[in-house]
Amino acid sequence: MKFKPGQRTDERILASDIFEVERFDVERPRGAHLDLGTWQEAAREIPVYRRCDVLVVGGGPSGTAAAVAAARLGADVALLERYNHLGGLSTGGLVIWIDRMTDWEGRHVIRGIGEELLDRLPADAVAGPARSEWGSRDPARAAHWAQRTAAYHGVVTWSPTVDPERLKLASQELVLETKVHLVYHCWAAAPLLEDGAVRGAIFESKAGRQALRARVVVDATGDGDLFARAGAAFESDIERDDIHHCMNTAWLFGGVDMERWLEFKAGQPEQFAAFMARGRERLRLFERPFVSWRNDVALFMGPRQSGFSALDPDDQTEVEIRSHRLMAEHLEFYRANAPGFGGAFLMLSAPQLGVRHSRRLVGVRRITRAQWPTAAVFDDEVGVTPAVSPKFPNISIPYGALVPEKLDGLLACGRHIACDPSSHGFLREIPQCWITGQAAGVGAALAARDCVEPRAVDVGELQARLLGQGAHLRPDAAEGNEAPLERSGAA
Ligand SMILES: Cc1cc2nc3c(=O)[nH]c(=O)nc-3n(C[C@H](O)[C@H](O)[C@H](O)COP(=O)(O)OP(=O)(O)OC[C@H]3O[C@@H](n4cnc5c(N)ncnc54)[C@H](O)[C@@H]3O)c2cc1C
Repeated sequence: MKFKPGQRTDERILASDIFEVERFDVERPRGAHLDLGTWQEAAREIPVYRRCDVLVVGGGPSGTAAAVAAARLGADVALLERYNHLGGLSTGGLVIWIDRMTDWEGRHVIRGIGEELLDRLPADAVAGPARSEWGSRDPARAAHWAQRTAAYHGVVTWSPTVDPERLKLASQELVLETKVHLVYHCWAAAPLLEDGAVRGAIFESKAGRQALRARVVVDATGDGDLFARAGAAFESDIERDDIHHCMNTAWLFGGVDMERWLEFKAGQPEQFAAFMARGRERLRLFERPFVSWRNDVALFMGPRQSGFSALDPDDQTEVEIRSHRLMAEHLEFYRANAPGFGGAFLMLSAPQLGVRHSRRLVGVRRITRAQWPTAAVFDDEVGVTPAVSPKFPNISIPYGALVPEKLDGLLACGRHIACDPSSHGFLREIPQCWITGQAAGVGAALAARDCVEPRAVDVGELQARLLGQGAHLRPDAAEGNEAPLERSGAA
């Protein structure tokens, strides 16, 4: 299914996914490669840096949850991250809008480690509706929160904005408390393969090239770096008109008055429309701000750029260059024309490039659009996600979507699990990445403990362990019933 700019749809989970601006494809000025021949790299012996039960590669929301979940089951876990922080796009990518932890009835279906992380944030690091409002259809409350990231389709949702520095710190401290061996500034370059199964990874750092051996590897890179290089099948379809193909670098403006901006946007719709039209005319790729965890900080998700590959460094560089320039142009335009932005300044451009999709695993199971209306509950359910809109029931996430169709020794989690493009629209969101990460961590720990491949893990024990770690599953799954849920968590 294709989505045209400006089209409102029930097939998208985020208000920010709805195109309201004109996009345009660009030619690829940098990524058109010349054939300059090849260079034969000499084989060499490299030192083994560490041996462990479970190696998690990538410290985004999914990798953080995977490492913590595995360590809590007693596994010796190493977590490798190429940057200097945890949280991935939810922190370093400035995707600070956690969309969404509740379903359309206001039930708190995203539980476990994601819930724990949000609960650990100081009160002034989270902005969102009180628990008593989750699920409210009161038009006034929904209208209020719709301006502030936390209502969609007329329903108030628990989808707060957070302080990225606090989430980095909370993620790091949770990982360290569970005795995970955390290594920043290391880039996993290739899987270690033994008899066709993944048994660790080779990584590069300032210390050179080293190996990390593990019984099970969790690929939480977001781009399937490990499973792709290990030869697992994956999907990399591209819909040029679809948001999932767009890349962008987010940024924050400080020194703003967002309440004043919201008054203008909601109170003067004609002037707001004229402002947006002028901005599009001037900048072509023109973005509107979202609220953040503070009134004086505005979040821009960044202009959506289409026609580039997230797997090509020349393309990635081009997106960064254009985004940084557009950020400065936005500042000038907003300062001059937008109520509440007169004193704005460039606070931060995201250290991590915003990639929605590059590769998706071909797994033992695949979550598809056809599943949405059925309310089917997989017998290997490891998580429950809200559907894209109130017209669909909650959707079951199977363990099989984390298990490669053929490759052994590896589990995938986060934004590259096995699903179709439509289902990817919500499975790539931060809350869902926390739940698939937690499931992968538990699966990997059990596989390592029992010396079996991840596909052979006892699913009954996996589900019991997840429930023991606070995850929400449906034990009466066979009837397709939603188990009654205690409402808890941060307000
Ligand atoms: C523009 C944009 C807007 C979005 N809006 C929202 C939103 O409003 N709400 C929402 O909930 N979600 C949103 N998302 C989706 C969400 O942010 C991501 O899909 C989610 O963070 C993915 O989590 P992850 O753990 O799978 O991967 P990531 O967050 O990408 O983390 C992967 C981590 O792995 C590391 N890594 C990658 N490769 C390697 C390697 N080879 N070696 C070592 N480390 C490596 C990276 O540095 C990174 O830290 C948005 C995404 C984008 C791009």
